[in-house]
Amino acid sequence: MSYTNEFHIKTGSKVNLGKIDAGDQGDYENEEAVSAELKKYSQRLTELQALMYAENKHSLLIVLQAMDGGGKDGTIHHVMAAMNPQGCSVVGFKVPTAEELAHDYLWRIHKMTPTKGHITVFNRSHYEDVLVVRVHGLVLEEIWSKRYNEINEFERELANSGTTIVKFFLHIDKEEQLKRFRDRLDEPDKQWKISDSDYTEREYWDEYQRSYMDVLSKCSFNYAPWYVIPANHKWFRDLAVSQILVETLEGLKMKYPAPSVDLVAIKQKYHAEVAEESGLAAVELMADEEQLKEKKVKKKGKKKKKKKK
Ligand code: ADP
Repeated sequence: MSYTNEFHIKTGSKVNLGKIDAGDQGDYENEEAVSAELKKYSQRLTELQALMYAENKHSLLIVLQAMDGGGKDGTIHHVMAAMNPQGCSVVGFKVPTAEELAHDYLWRIHKMTPTKGHITVFNRSHYEDVLVVRVHGLVLEEIWSKRYNEINEFERELANSGTTIVKFFLHIDKEEQLKRFRDRLDEPDKQWKISDSDYTEREYWDEYQRSYMDVLSKCSFNYAPWYVIPANHKWFRDLAVSQILVETLEGLKMKYPAPSVDLVAIKQKYHAEVAEESGLAAVELMADEEQLKEKKVKKKGKKKKKKKK
């Protein structure tokens, strides 16, 4: 099953989250049933990230949005575990600082976008400026309502500059959210996550869902697609996200750059014993070395002649 097709939001479609089953688990019975596939995708992600880093041509921006308790942290943990820290980063966007508020809302976002060869995950994003900001009326409607187009333009510019953008909405239902909050109460390693606002924000559930539906309906394009990931089952969420990332990166048709040095010459000069093991006779090696020296002498000669001229 290709989740890249199944969970992709088609441009201009009217999204109704109430009709998308947050408890979907595909054809899988349980976590065990996906473990081999999950491992396969993780390994492939490792390879593809290494390739992206080496090619140094593309970059990948992963945008993660969810209701509180939706599993952004868990998804990041799973996805990033497959990657070399040297080529990736995670940026969390919290309530804007005074300095950030003194700029336009995309200012803090733009400077954190990935450079070539890198992968960046946005844990929350510029979409907060049409979600929490809208739900709580932090700016006037005439301001936030223009932001959908502004965001689309911003993302188009990033895409035109070589950034591949993938956006995931981790879709849980209201009961699952309460269950997760409840579980945190009994788990010492999760208690630190509990905040009053988690519970007070639940009162705005419907308004948030409406705002998300607008985002999904207005801001999904081929150059920056949204995917709605059924996320009540954490293992299914990880599987779908990993598969979509692998398919997206494979679509870039990346290639390792050709070596910039003469591999044969280097092997012969510095790794004679390795060459010998692979069947090259020592005599041949010496002959090749002589040839190399001759070449260098000739080159030097030519350079000297040029200088004289
Ligand atoms: P998280 O819930 O992502 O793990 P926090 O608990 O620190 O992290 O929550 C970050 C908070 O910052 C959220 O309540 C979110 O709505 C808020 N936030 C993010 N961006 C903005 C913004 N542009 N304007 C107002 N609040 C924002």
